[in-house]
Amino acid sequence: MEFIGHILIFPFPIQGHVNSMLKLAHLFDLSNFHVTFSVPSNIHARLLAHTDVNSGRFSPRFRLQSFPAGIYEGAIDSKEGFMELCDSLNRIAKPFLRECIAQKRNFSLPFTAFISDFQLSIALDVVGEECFNLPVYYFRTISACGFWAYFSLPDLFEAGELPIKENGIDSSPITKIKGMEDFLRVRDLPPFCRDEDLAVLFYTETRLAVHARGLILNTFEDLEGPILSQIRTKCPKVYTLGPLHAHLKATLASKSTHSNSLRQEDETCMAWLDSQEPKSVIYVSFGSISVITRQQLMELWYGLVNSGKKFLWVMRSDLVAGKDEETPIPLELEEGTKANGYIVGWAPQEAVLDHPAVGGFLTHSGWNSTLESIAAGVPMICWPFFADQQMNSRFVGEVWKLGLDMKDVCDRSSVEKLIRELMEKRKGEFLERAENMGKLAKQAISEGGSSYCNFDCLIQDIIKVNEDMRKPLKNVLAS
Ligand code: UDP
Repeated sequence: MEFIGHILIFPFPIQGHVNSMLKLAHLFDLSNFHVTFSVPSNIHARLLAHTDVNSGRFSPRFRLQSFPAGIYEGAIDSKEGFMELCDSLNRIAKPFLRECIAQKRNFSLPFTAFISDFQLSIALDVVGEECFNLPVYYFRTISACGFWAYFSLPDLFEAGELPIKENGIDSSPITKIKGMEDFLRVRDLPPFCRDEDLAVLFYTETRLAVHARGLILNTFEDLEGPILSQIRTKCPKVYTLGPLHAHLKATLASKSTHSNSLRQEDETCMAWLDSQEPKSVIYVSFGSISVITRQQLMELWYGLVNSGKKFLWVMRSDLVAGKDEETPIPLELEEGTKANGYIVGWAPQEAVLDHPAVGGFLTHSGWNSTLESIAAGVPMICWPFFADQQMNSRFVGEVWKLGLDMKDVCDRSSVEKLIRELMEKRKGEFLERAENMGKLAKQAISEGGSSYCNFDCLIQDIIKVNEDMRKPLKNVLAS
């Protein structure tokens, strides 16, 4: 088969990022590209342990590659942990990637594109310092609204809307993010805006997007069109390819997906869902990183049980901070859970959201979870933690009206009230809107749809830029 290109993919090494970038890698693999997917050794080991990434899913053109040891593997729900991870990627991944590109350069499968996640500075430095002549594409796995907010942060500092000084719930308006002037409040901004170092790190990396050959986003035009128009004023080449999980499923013409889980999925919940009434279950999951206090756990639990609704809850082993194993669970919660609930440590989430019994999703508004819910036509209750989650939940509640934004509160009566509202009082209204948006998501990834066509455009761009880059060399050789 003719060589059409070799793509180096460098995801930020956490579940949500690895998941969507691996889906993109799979789409490239199905389009006959060679793909090298570079991750730290712990992620490498977990992918091998919990997925079929190295056993038949991909063609032999796909290669999963591990960085040398030493990349930070601890928790990243604190500033220190997050900075430590970024630093270690700079120290270890950057020289490794440089070496890797240099080595391949003179052999039969040279890299022809570099797709980088969050830390674009690494990719641009590596390519720029060595004059590698390799186009760099920026793939942000967050929402377009999150991306645009990060990009706009310097304008907020300049206008005095940042930094945020006080703690607590602040509903004052934010007016300096174009396209969001009418509905954005301080409490909808990413929490890192309270820390100037982090805010600078996030907007500096994000603004480097203008130096990339193109920006790839896991979203679709019908969902985030107005914000995408704003982004295109700064980055003209934006390729929206999402929802990627649905895009991949459609390309594979398959109902099921390959899991990209870094944890063992508990499939038993699917049989439990099979025994439930249509649209009767609220699925509860806060993604792969978020941590809650024991008090929040109890409030959520009481809210769920008191709502009287059926619930499927992902209670990760590391969900609760400083979990006190000895503290007994109150009898009424145990009994309520036995009657109406099912708890797992990690679920096959895409399949859960696609199950006919699921009628609502209590989510932390991580972007993958949000898109998976949208594609499945499932309304949401949003309880965001960090990064773009606060923005996503505002858009879910206020712009797309696909659910309710619980943000900043977590007491048992609010949880109960919101569940009843979503699953009972306003059920029809939310389901109708969510199902309509789900249809638009499916159209986007179907033949002729925006995400489908954008993927073709991206492929053509990668092929063309390499032809253009090689032209002068060919001309010299020919003369
Ligand atoms: N996920 C899963 N099983 C679970 C919980 C989450 O497979 O029990 C997957 C979910 O489908 C999503 C990813 O983990 O693709 C979480 O990504 P997201 O962006 O929503 O949140 P993050 O983990 O990055 O905070």
